[in-house]
Formats: sequence, structure tokens, C-alpha cells
Amino acid sequence: MIRLLDETTVGQIAAGEVVERPLSVVKELVENALDAGATRVSVAVSRGGLESIEVADDGAGIDPADLPLAFARHATSKLVRAADLERVMTLGFRGEGLASIAAVARVRLISRTAVSEVAYAVDAHGLEVTQAEPLAAAAGTRVVVTDLFANVPARREYLRAPSAEFARISSFLATLSLGYPSVTFSLSHEGRSSFIFPGGAQIEQRLAHVFGPPSAQALLAIRARETSGAIPIGVRGYVSTPGVDRPDRRMQLLFVNGRLLRSTQLAGAWSAAYSSFALVGRQPFGVLFLDVPADHVDPNVHPTKSDVRLRRPETVHDAVRHAIASTLSHDATARMRDALSFFPPAASGSPAEYGYAPEPFDFAPGDATASADDGARRPGLRILAQLDSTYILATDGNALVLVDQHAAHERVAYESIARRAQNGEAAAEPLLIPYTIELDAAEATRFEPSRESLAAGGLEAEPFGERAYRIVATPAGYGARAFDVRAYLDALGDDIPGLGPRERVWASLACHSVVRAGETLEPAEMHALIERLVRCENPMHCPHGRPTMVRIEPDDVARMFKRG
Ligand code: ADP
Ligand code: MG
Repeated sequence: MIRLLDETTVGQIAAGEVVERPLSVVKELVENALDAGATRVSVAVSRGGLESIEVADDGAGIDPADLPLAFARHATSKLVRAADLERVMTLGFRGEGLASIAAVARVRLISRTAVSEVAYAVDAHGLEVTQAEPLAAAAGTRVVVTDLFANVPARREYLRAPSAEFARISSFLATLSLGYPSVTFSLSHEGRSSFIFPGGAQIEQRLAHVFGPPSAQALLAIRARETSGAIPIGVRGYVSTPGVDRPDRRMQLLFVNGRLLRSTQLAGAWSAAYSSFALVGRQPFGVLFLDVPADHVDPNVHPTKSDVRLRRPETVHDAVRHAIASTLSHDATARMRDALSFFPPAASGSPAEYGYAPEPFDFAPGDATASADDGARRPGLRILAQLDSTYILATDGNALVLVDQHAAHERVAYESIARRAQNGEAAAEPLLIPYTIELDAAEATRFEPSRESLAAGGLEAEPFGERAYRIVATPAGYGARAFDVRAYLDALGDDIPGLGPRERVWASLACHSVVRAGETLEPAEMHALIERLVRCENPMHCPHGRPTMVRIEPDDVARMFKRG
């Protein structure tokens, strides 16, 4: 027999989705406080929340006339019409937080707005809400929740020990506080203070609490950036320095527009950014604060609002990956420069030599910087071997360094070509014997527009009949190889994040002018290559974003041998 359920049961079922455990109550109440513009949020818990949960704030308060509605299901001050759902700026919006809590507990709510002389209190339990009665209280709102799940014994049984429930609350509140640095948060259990995070102070105290002091020390600030692409995406936050990492993703914390959540759509972005910096299977940790235009985020996809649906997940994913990768690369570069001490001692060179070396890299035997003896004697780096005619194996006596010779040379060539092209410095070397390349119609259509940028980069191709071009000059220092126009066109088609059309031409040109994998190099050549590489602006990656080198730290080696 099919029957309509009574309203109390309906309320309990609906609440079951929202209020799973004491933590859920804290989450709903703290979100309300933040939505009300609170600058102070205090949470007091007893017996892990089973006996009572109290959340007090100094926010806007509730107008006495609105009080009876606060506990009605689907009653909210945060949305007016359906269209507002497309640009939700508040944490709450469904109007079911207080109703759900009242369905499974006793709730007393005391609230006073700034303009009201007195506060008003209401008690709610199940579907009943008492008349508001006046009393004296500070401006803001205080909600006290008792007898949680008294009327749903099944829920109670499924809870853990009070200490475990409290631990969840504590870790949630500390984590949430990272997203609201100007707000003071405090938490107490059984009347004892567990933490106070003063608002406006540095975020370090909160980071140390959430990640543990040693791990927090290893956090790098993500260089604040806003992408200029189709949608503006702000990325701020902290990520662990390469080498300090974890076996799982648990500590990859994410805020999207102030909402603390786990995003299935963005879950891979951290590891995608980290893959070139660490051993397989290790994960970085940290916290990201993303600002995405509200109409690009649908927060209404999960009962406890713990995930969102992004309208353009790939764009956001790329912005995140890029922000993390460039922070890590910046840091790794700095560390590598220290660790390998490639630069000659101060006495032996002018300051200009410490910067970027404008001459292109070639393997001229007489090159003073490229003597093997010199390399062997220099403290810091020792080149050990070439592996598989593809990688250079080196060490600074501590870590192992593996360099991808093609990617490394590509980076060196790209910076040299791009820099000279931008400065309008002649970089072309006329060929004694020009050669001809022939293209089909489609190839010619793709080739023609890049001719001007190619010429700026040093490769001069003159039209020669219908669909043929004559190569009359190549980038100075890189002329040894014939210009492989098809490979060039292929590479040109790759979308390279962060590079404009002209830079793409130069990256592609560089890619086809340099040492390939599979070429045997002399020690002096390897040394010269690495020396040039570390003087690059962005030595850790080739223009296509692939890593040029990886460091394997002693810790990593220890892990391989199951020592640590
Ligand atoms: P929602 O947060 O989705 O709007 P709730 O049931 O959590 O739904 O709250 C209902 C309404 O009660 C809110 O829209 C808000 O107007 C008011 N309210 C709840 N808590 C507070 C608070 N701490 N300060 C001010 N207003 C509050
Ligand atoms: Mg709410």
C-alpha cells in the first residue's frame, strides 16, 4: 500500500542528506555566520557535538519579522528568483540548513540586528517553532543545538566516539578558516579552548595548524595570478615544495569562490602540475583559492554542497595546473641554481656573464666554457654519463640530476631565438647554398602566415614558384640541420599554454634546430649544454612545457630502497 509520508518524516528524510553528523551542523551554522558578514565566529562543542553545539557570530543578525521564517524549509534571504541560482555568491542558498537541523535536534536561535535594541529568541524542534521572545543579547546571532539525533537513534549509532566527532569538527573549522583570513575563528571543546585564530593576522598560524608545523614550512606561496583567457580565473594559495610530498591527495585543499570542497573535475590538476617534479605516486599538498566567475560555477550539485560543477572544467584545470607548475618551477630553479652552483666563481667573470648568455649554443670545440676538465674541476656539478644517447646523468654530490638533452637544448635555443627576435637583432646566417622545400596546398596555407615570425627568428624562406620556398638563411648557430618543414608545421599545431602565435613559431623553430634524442654527445658538449641551460630564464621546462631535467633526491632514492 502506497501512503503519503507525514511532514515530520519528510523533514527527517530531507535532513538526513544535509545533517549526517555533528560536523554537518557546525558546517551549516558557520556558513550562515560567514554569509551574515561575521568578523568573529565562535564554536563551542560538548561531547563531540552530541550534547551541544553552539555557534555565535557578530554578523548582520535576523530581523525579528523574519525570525519565524528562518526555520521554514526552502526559506532563504539569499535567493530571490530562480535565475539567482546561476550566480550564487553566498555559501547557503537552499534555505534548508536550519530546517534540517531542527528536524533532527532541538535548536535555540537568538539574534539581534544592529538597528534593533533587543535580541529575540526562538526555539525550534521538528516542525514546531515558538513565538519570538525578546531578551538582552549582543548584536549578531547565536545558535545552540542540543539533543542531536535524539529522535533518530539509527544515526546516533552510526557516529564515532565523541573525540573522533570533535576531531572532524576541529579539522574542518581550521581548514575553513584558511579561506577567511580576516575572520576570527575560535573553537572550544568541553569548555576548553582548542584554538583561536585572530582575524587579519598572518595566515601562517592557520597553515601550521592544518598541515602541521614542519609541512607548513615547506609551503610555497603560489604567485598570485589571474588568467587572461576566455574567463578570468584567479588562483592563489600555497603548494608544497618539490620533494616534500605525500602518498595521497588528502591534503590537497581547495576553495572555489570561498567554498571549501573536493572537486572531482579538478582532482587531477595537482598531480598534472607535479608530475615533472617528483617520483610517480607522490602527491603535493597545499591549499588553493580559486576565484571563478559565479555564473561558471554550479554549487547546487551535492546535498552538502561539497562539490561544484564547473562550466569550463578544462579551462579551470589548466589555470590551476599552470599556477602550481610555474610556482614549483620557479622554486626548483632557485634551488637548483644553489645546489648545482654552475656559475663560475665571482672573481672569474663579469656580472653580465651571470645572466643570460645571448650567444646561441653550438658545439664548437674551442668553446672556453665547454672544456671537460673545467667541468670536472668545478665544485657542484659532475657529469657522469650520457644514458641511451638521450639523457645526461649528473650529480651535485647529493642528488642525481637527469637532463633530457633535446628538451634542454630546445629551451636554450628558444630563449636565444625569441630574445634576439624580440630585440630585432639580426639572428640570421645566410646559407652559402640555399635549399628548396616543397609543400602541398594545405601545408602552404599553414606555412605562409608564420613566415614573418620565422624571419624575425632567423629563418628566411623566400617564395620560389607555386608552393615551394627557398631557405636562404637559418638562425645563427643553429644552421647545422636542414629545416624539417613538416615536423615544424606539426609542432606549430600544438597548443602551448602561455605562448602567443609568434612565440609558438619560435618554439617550433627551436625544436627543429637542436640536438635530438639519440645523438651521442661528448662530455664537453654535455657540459656546455647544461651550463647554457641553467642560465635560461625558465630552465626547468622546454617551450612545450615538458621538463628539461629532474632531480632525484637522496630521500627519493631511500624510498626506492624502502629505507624511509
Ligand atoms: P540558507 O543559508 O540556505 O539561506 P538556512 O536555513 O541556513 O538557509 O538559513 C535561513 C535564513 O536564516 C538565511 O537565509 C538567513 O537569512 C537567516 N540566517 C540563518 N543564520 C543566520 C545568521 N547566523 N546570521 C544572520 N542570518 C541568518
Ligand atoms: Mg545556511
